[in-house]
Amino acid sequence: MSVSVDDQIAAAVPLLATAEDVTLLAHVNPDADALGSALALGLALHRRGARVRVSFGGPEQTPESLRGLDSAGLIVPAEAVPAAPPLLVALDTGSVDRLGALADRVAATTEAGGTVLVVDHHVSNTRYGTHHVVDDRAEATAVLVLRLLDALDVPLDEPIARCLYAGLATDTVSFRFAGPAAHRSAARLLESGVDAPAMLRQLMDSHPFGWLHMLSTVLGRAQLEPEAAQGVGLVHTHIRLADHEGLRAEEVESVVDVVRTTAEAGVAAVFKEFAQGEWTVSLRSTGALDVRSAAQRLGGGGHRMAAGFTAYGEPGQVLAELRAALDQATLL
Ligand code: AMP
Ligand code: MN
Ligand code: MN
Repeated sequence: MSVSVDDQIAAAVPLLATAEDVTLLAHVNPDADALGSALALGLALHRRGARVRVSFGGPEQTPESLRGLDSAGLIVPAEAVPAAPPLLVALDTGSVDRLGALADRVAATTEAGGTVLVVDHHVSNTRYGTHHVVDDRAEATAVLVLRLLDALDVPLDEPIARCLYAGLATDTVSFRFAGPAAHRSAARLLESGVDAPAMLRQLMDSHPFGWLHMLSTVLGRAQLEPEAAQGVGLVHTHIRLADHEGLRAEEVESVVDVVRTTAEAGVAAVFKEFAQGEWTVSLRSTGALDVRSAAQRLGGGGHRMAAGFTAYGEPGQVLAELRAALDQATLL
């Protein structure tokens, strides 16, 4: 039997209210929901005097578009995270392997008698850790962190609200997939002083000029397969290392948001090469097919409408594996 979110939150509150040393982790290649959630909770605990560090298992540098969220300098390099901290909080991270270089901290903390609290909204969450605040109906992990902060009686201020707003805006694709409660949460965050236009421009609407040429190359190579994905239609492209040389990860991650607008395809896939022969694949659905079920067959995970996996080899070969997984995926 599953425990209600209110009960999960009630069990997590005493851990967070009394902790003197808290380590908060986001998933690898952190996005605004993962890092914003970790920083918002971290800021609240830091305010009341706890020793707080926030980290992620790669890359080494914080993505440029997210640096403005770390107003108190809480982010530390992965190697500065203790081997077995007393309280480890993993945010927006569905499985241990998504912690990358910091994945070993989960078992070490548990074995040393410490606490591992998992705060997440992935359907594919594996329920690792000792305590959970996991709700796959939440639009973003940031929504769950806001509920935790309310239960902890933490007053919202602009730096905390900014972190949560960034996560909420990103995971709901600028509030397209936000329900009424998430809009009410967003209103509270705005009332706390968040400058939404400035924040959203920096977060998702600002790219160097070189991005335009990269886009033209990779969009020019996009292909449409109307019969693929059980007739739902698949549109796909790939971005090689050479295509994004000198550009940030932000430019590469933005491509799927253009590709997914293709009207003839219910599924969009973008193959991103960040290391030679290693493809990080972004999947998006318009709602006809559960892309998480395909990603999970390929060792990844995510949500029904947005999922991902990692694969190795030539793009043609990875594409063939994806086609096969989409043919077996759950129709919605
Ligand atoms: P992205 O395309 O990177 O924006 O990811 C879309 C969704 O899929 C996010 O919720 C990710 O957490 C999830 N996801 C992406 N890659 C993986 C992976 N390798 N394993 C599990 N989940 C993933
Ligand atoms: Mn995420
Ligand atoms: Mn998320």
